Amino acid sequence: MKNIFEFAEDLREKVDIVEFLSQYLNIKKRGKNYVALCPFHPDKNPSLNISREKGLFHCFGCGVGGTIYHFVMKMENVSFERAVEIVANWANVEIPSFEYSKKNDWVYSFHEKLANYFKENLLKNENIVDYLFKRGLDLNGIEKFCLGYAPIEIDDFLKKENVSDAKLRETGIYPYRNFSKRLIFPIKSVSGKIVGFSGRALEGEEPKYINSQETIFKKGEILYGLYENKDEILKTKEAILVEGYMDVIILNIKGIRNVVSSMGTSFTEDQGKILKRFADRLYISFDPDIGGVEGTKRALEIGEKYNFEVKVIEIPDKLDPDEFVLKYGRDEFLNLIKNSLDAINFLWNEAEKKNKGSETLVPLVKDLIEIAKRIKDPTKRFDILKRISERTGFPETILLEEIKEKKVKKSQIIEIQDNILEREFLTYIIKNREFLDLIKDEINENYIMTKKYKDLYIKIKNSSEFILMEDALYRELLFSDIEIGPKEHFFDIIKRLKFIYLQNQKKELLINLEKAEKEKKDELIDYFKLKLIELEKEIKNLRYKEV
Ligand SMILES: [Zn+2]
Repeated sequence: MKNIFEFAEDLREKVDIVEFLSQYLNIKKRGKNYVALCPFHPDKNPSLNISREKGLFHCFGCGVGGTIYHFVMKMENVSFERAVEIVANWANVEIPSFEYSKKNDWVYSFHEKLANYFKENLLKNENIVDYLFKRGLDLNGIEKFCLGYAPIEIDDFLKKENVSDAKLRETGIYPYRNFSKRLIFPIKSVSGKIVGFSGRALEGEEPKYINSQETIFKKGEILYGLYENKDEILKTKEAILVEGYMDVIILNIKGIRNVVSSMGTSFTEDQGKILKRFADRLYISFDPDIGGVEGTKRALEIGEKYNFEVKVIEIPDKLDPDEFVLKYGRDEFLNLIKNSLDAINFLWNEAEKKNKGSETLVPLVKDLIEIAKRIKDPTKRFDILKRISERTGFPETILLEEIKEKKVKKSQIIEIQDNILEREFLTYIIKNREFLDLIKDEINENYIMTKKYKDLYIKIKNSSEFILMEDALYRELLFSDIEIGPKEHFFDIIKRLKFIYLQNQKKELLINLEKAEKEKKDELIDYFKLKLIELEKEIKNLRYKEV
């Protein structure tokens, strides 16, 4: 069932903002957009811009803007809910009463019946049962996790339950055909209500997994297996975090019952918060591939944020947790738990792997120093610096200097106010979100020097469009005249951004080098010179290479 925000979003797509605002304003067309005199400040030239396509307005005079609802809220001085009501009435759209609880009760009981129906259907299909047994499942596992198999169609079932197609839509398992002929995992909330389903392809179809639509099912707020395993987790105060549904079930069958799945590699803050109610120690055991390693790093951060004692389980032979426990058994998996790594050692190993084959030790030192920076306790920090020094041969004095370096930076940095370039960069990613997806992992906020642009870039990476629309600078760029070109132009902008960033780093490094030379600190001089070589190489590469 929809909540008011979802209803408001749907409604926004149906309503023409230009037509609606015409009730209040004298609107003229200008280029692709529409303009009017702003009612919120004394305005002589029309500075209020309206985009019909985006359903947004923005005033370049006073900065007011947002969606149609923001306009009504400001104009009529009413709440968001009332604004939605006003727009809905104007558009002749019926407003649903947002009494979710009763309607949700229906969905839960329907889900329950559907899950049982799928399960019975699974048990009737010998081929599939055989297949599951071969993958290590047993009848208890099927029963406990209520696994099922979705038939090609469920019209008879729907008829019997008196559920129309429109009604089915409320449940999230819609359209049904997406789920047919798939292995079905019902997903339960902490209190045991089935909030959604995940269907796994059995014949190599894509996508491999398909989930219920996000109605009452909110993937980021649910941990698969928590309901079934929560007693064990509470008892031990420990939880093992895995990626897959099968991992949870197979480990359970093998007698390891404190396992939950984040349903993919992104462990969310909400999931962390929920799990913290049950456990204090968190073992991360994602699949040993690139996605798994990156996911582990993020999960580590979230785990630490919510004060878990976090450990990482490393599985040999590139096996997933379920594969490993099937091959080597429970005791060997318990051994892996016993030998699990703390955050520092895990990150250290990853840094070693990443920098294997590098010509100098400088990139490794850089990464290891980042790890040391994570540690707040000065004694422990000193220990790790010692360890880095032993590993790399760089004297501790240099490493200490490097850790401190950040603080000196601000006063020394030469700011290049290349606003136009940064402004262009942001406009590209605002007007075409695909551009953002291309580079967001590669371009971190440090590449952007102007504070307001840097702040906005961070916000764009982390916020929903709903929040962004309330940001005046975001709207300003969205409405700006800057025309965005093809991908090649965008990559050219990125290249220039990187170039300036690297040049800045170089200038800073030269200042440090000069200082070290004046003070005759030979070790530091050598170190800075090595860094300079690395940097020169990067700059040179940039000239030839596509980004
Ligand atoms: Zn204005």
